[in-house]
Amino acid sequence: MLDYNHDTDTNAVIVTVLASVFLLLLVGIVFYGYGFLMRQGRLTPTSEMGRCLLCGTIAPKDQLVPRTLHGGKEVLLCSTCIVSLHTDLLRTQTVTKPSTKDSIG
Ligand SMILES: [Zn+2]
Repeated sequence: MLDYNHDTDTNAVIVTVLASVFLLLLVGIVFYGYGFLMRQGRLTPTSEMGRCLLCGTIAPKDQLVPRTLHGGKEVLLCSTCIVSLHTDLLRTQTVTKPSTKDSIG
C-alpha cells in the first residue's frame, strides 16, 4: 500500500514536471518562431514589402515613398528618413539664412 501510494506520488510529480517542461518548450518554440519570423521579415522583403534605401527598414510598400535615381533605379524611402531629411533641410536653411540677410543688408 505504502509503495503504491509512493508510486502514484512519484508519477504525479513526473507528470507535473513533464507538463511544465512541455509548456516551457511550447512557449520557447512560440517565442523562437516569432523571433525567427521577425528576423526573416527584416532580412527578406516580400513582394508587398519594401526596404528603405537609407535606414534599411522593411515596411509595406504603401508606407514607403518611391523615388527614381538619376540612373533610373527606383528606390524607397521611409517616413522616418523623409522627416529626418526635411529636418536637416530646415536646419541647413536656418544656417544659411543669416548669410542671405547679410547680402540684403
Ligand atoms: Zn528609412
